[in-house]
Amino acid sequence: MSEKAKYLQVIDEKANIITDVSDKIWEYAELSLMEFKSCELYVKVLKEQGFNVECPVCGIDTAFKATYGSGKPVIGILAEYDALSGLSQEANSTVRKELVRGGSGHGCGHNLLGAGAMAAAFAVKSYLEEGHEGTVIFYGCPGEEGGAAKAFMARERLFEECDLALTWHPGSVNQVSSGTCNSCIQTEYKFTGVAAHAAGNPHMGRSALDAVELMNIGVQFLREHMESSSRIHYAITDAGGNSPNVVQPHAQVLYMVRSVLVKEALELQARVDKIAEAAAMMTETKMTKRFIDGTSNTVPNKVLEKLMWENFNEVGVPTYTEEEKAFAQALIDGYEMPSKNLPGSACDENAEIAEWVAEVSKNATIPLNDFLVPYWFSTKERAGSTDVGDVSWLVPTAQINVVCSPSGAPGHSWQNVSCGKSTIAHKGLLCAGRVIAATAIDLYEQPETIAAAKAEWEKRAAGGYFCPVPADAVPVAVGEQMD
Ligand SMILES: [Zn+2]
Ligand SMILES: [Zn+2]
Repeated sequence: MSEKAKYLQVIDEKANIITDVSDKIWEYAELSLMEFKSCELYVKVLKEQGFNVECPVCGIDTAFKATYGSGKPVIGILAEYDALSGLSQEANSTVRKELVRGGSGHGCGHNLLGAGAMAAAFAVKSYLEEGHEGTVIFYGCPGEEGGAAKAFMARERLFEECDLALTWHPGSVNQVSSGTCNSCIQTEYKFTGVAAHAAGNPHMGRSALDAVELMNIGVQFLREHMESSSRIHYAITDAGGNSPNVVQPHAQVLYMVRSVLVKEALELQARVDKIAEAAAMMTETKMTKRFIDGTSNTVPNKVLEKLMWENFNEVGVPTYTEEEKAFAQALIDGYEMPSKNLPGSACDENAEIAEWVAEVSKNATIPLNDFLVPYWFSTKERAGSTDVGDVSWLVPTAQINVVCSPSGAPGHSWQNVSCGKSTIAHKGLLCAGRVIAATAIDLYEQPETIAAAKAEWEKRAAGGYFCPVPADAVPVAVGEQMD
């Protein structure tokens, strides 16, 4: 057994503890910044395993930090554990069946994300215990789906205590996640008008709902005159009531603005703010706004990504039984919108990789992608946003995706929730733990690789970190209404 394999063995020895945490968090299915039980469980287990645990962190009640070891280098491992609303689903079922009526579910697999990251921290600890110099910090980062806790933690420059950070995200393909994504800012606009009988005294009323509608129309026209990579989305969170014969005195809309860089997102945001002010002026209503959350784009790091890929290749990807494949296929058969894309983001950019993937995935028809996509470094923007981006502007950061759900699984789907307690998901999270731990152990042994990752990061993040979270903003839990 190679020396590294000995430390990875710890993940097999503690597999029950690790998957038990994942399954419990799947059951808790707590929404962003309300992950009290999930956080408590992590704190308990990490203390039992000999970590030094701090909770809360940066004033966020459900954030924690678990540290082991001493001195340099310091490697950060990032965990998430929040769920999504409306996605309660029975486990291991091939049909849509709510477990709790109107409840939440782990449609993004963050129960696995946290537990897989913890598996890595366990293995790294066993390495450090043998007298190796260095520290591991396991960061419990709540509120990824809403709240952007990592951005709030980054505002305090918390992650600068590390030399670098590693993480992963469950997915339907095994790959190193390269490229960048969009920065994203969410703002809530609240309009206040005057109620009146809509037929009897219409001239006495000032409609807040009209203001929301006019704001949306204004933004609709704005979309023609912005960067094509930018996006603006909205949700009406308060339409002012259910009575058409009452002039709506209150209404609220939540906006999400995305551009590649935070600075660009803020510029676009300022234009949306003007439209909101104009809508209030047109309707003689009052507008107040509140910052909800914001995330930065990711800074890719070729040095760390390549090392993660080499370790992924060495550790190997999960393999599946016929029963697991049949379950995955049954879930795929239930997709409302089956994906026709080849698995692996590198396929859009490299024809040779696309050809290879087409061959091994039988043109994207196998139920579980049991191969590792060849490494491809990218700086291309991909849709979507993550608060891992904020960490990557403070220290070199890399992440992988490991298969935990069937091929082509839509993100945030009930199918992912159904799969989230299965042996497929367990295999995925344990694999992720091994790859992260193996990479971290290499990094403790190779200070020159850390130096190279930092030199690269200094170039790519040369513009400096521009935190999307204003100095006076406080984290807002999902569903917390503006007062
Ligand atoms: Zn998600
Ligand atoms: Zn996610």
